[in-house]
Amino acid sequence: MKARVLLADDSPTILKVVGSVLEQAGYEVITATNGVEAAEKAYAERPNLVLLDVIMPGMNGYQVCRLIKNEPALRQLPVVILTSRDQPRDRFWGYQTGADEYVTKGFDQSRLLEVVQELLAKCASQAVDEAAAPALAGEHVDILSRSNDLLDRKLFEATVINEIGKLATVLQSYEQTVDGVLSLVHRLVDYAVAAVAIIHDDHAELTLKLWSPVVREYLEEFKHRLTEELKQYVPARFFTGGLQTQLLYAEGLGITTEVENAPSQIEDFLFVPIMAKGEVVGGLGLTTPPGRQFTKDDQLTLHLIATHAYLVIENAWLYEQVKKLSITDGLTRVYNRRYLEERLEQEFRRSQRHKTFLTALMLDIDHFKHINDTYGHQMGDEVLRKLMELCRQVTRSTDIIGRYGGEEFMVLLPETDLMGGKCVAERLRKLVETQTFTTDKGPIRITISLGICTMPAEGIETALQLVKGADEALYRAKQTGRNRTCVASVNETDGSPAPGACPDAAAGGVMPPA
Ligand code: GH3
Ligand code: MG
Ligand code: MG
Repeated sequence: MKARVLLADDSPTILKVVGSVLEQAGYEVITATNGVEAAEKAYAERPNLVLLDVIMPGMNGYQVCRLIKNEPALRQLPVVILTSRDQPRDRFWGYQTGADEYVTKGFDQSRLLEVVQELLAKCASQAVDEAAAPALAGEHVDILSRSNDLLDRKLFEATVINEIGKLATVLQSYEQTVDGVLSLVHRLVDYAVAAVAIIHDDHAELTLKLWSPVVREYLEEFKHRLTEELKQYVPARFFTGGLQTQLLYAEGLGITTEVENAPSQIEDFLFVPIMAKGEVVGGLGLTTPPGRQFTKDDQLTLHLIATHAYLVIENAWLYEQVKKLSITDGLTRVYNRRYLEERLEQEFRRSQRHKTFLTALMLDIDHFKHINDTYGHQMGDEVLRKLMELCRQVTRSTDIIGRYGGEEFMVLLPETDLMGGKCVAERLRKLVETQTFTTDKGPIRITISLGICTMPAEGIETALQLVKGADEALYRAKQTGRNRTCVASVNETDGSPAPGACPDAAAGGVMPPA
């Protein structure tokens, strides 16, 4: 049986010349003189291949091609754009519409025949989607409305993708970016609770957004369902530590215990995996508001968002990681010296401007060389790590801990006066003193010495002077026997404790161990 080729061109000469070349090569040729006719014949006459001119009245070749390639029943039909336009932009757009080949009109028709032959051979070797074909046979197809629907759909997709892209143009935190994505989802699909789950390195992180009040059990059930879905794609080890969960609320909402107005059971749940480089790297999950069901359109929209949001979300995450790494000390995970000094300057200026207290603690391990020499450097490192864990325990999240040098650390306590500083210092000193550190040579104990300097104080005009004050106090703590806290000489007149404020800091300038 002869292969049937549909040739569309508004030039009768081209139709005649190319048509006869094709006929001589043994093909059956049907012709169309404009885009709409070409599209109609592509549906009705079931050709084996389509040759399309670009500029035609009514609908151009690109538009016909796009229509064919977005029609499930016609998708496999090979399309060749045959044109005299050969600028890069034309080729680009030709291939973007889904054309299989782009051939420039020339005197040499052998190139065209070659392409036609190759595409027909390739097509014959592929399985044809027979199921889709009969649905269109004999059916009248309204080309213009189909074309308009397609354009509208493409415009919708481009608009959504553009909205996602906008999230990346403003440098936002990970949380803000995910919030942006989930807020965009809400503008397109009505939901009660939504979440983005992403696998990072070795754990799964879940960011949940509530758009209507729900009870705790509802949320637990939601997390359970999402995890179960993810587990179909992602190894279970990512969930061993439980899902690291972050809750975001739409304004004025939260978890409620009032069952009356909050659903306790999930009615409809929709999950779409998030893919990157052919692998599932997370998922998007949604539940409906009470009395609703998700539609096919909702699912398509969610797919579209899941496909394009990952890059933006992952970028925000990586940016945060890099930022974190650049300011932390690799061994102890407290701030590094550079960032510590930056914060010191900031806090100093803030304290000067607002006339608030700022206390700096400088601490150093006693006879640390001995620990290194006796138990090895690795054990020494372990001690440093543990010491910083203890330090975090006795400070507030708003305090700033940094590694000043080797085994010297600085803690900045904003809005904290001398008395408060002494409390923190002594609490830490006592905690360290009572801790045992296990080594392969049995348990050991360590002690630390601390120096404190608080501003405002006479003679403290710069951040450097504040550090010097704490350092000088630390030196005195070492000189006077170690395992103690000393106060900078500039603060010593201010050494009397407020009654009952902090029992640990009862002494004045020098506080020896109890
Ligand atoms: P002192 O009581 O006077 O402070 O005595 P010390 O032995 O602790 O003396 P110093 O504070 O001068 O000791 C610094 C030692 O800390 C020297 C060095 O071996 C050790 N050190 C510095 N940085 C590190 C580190 O990152 N890891 C380990 N294991 N040891 C470190
Ligand atoms: Mg030391
Ligand atoms: Mg030291």
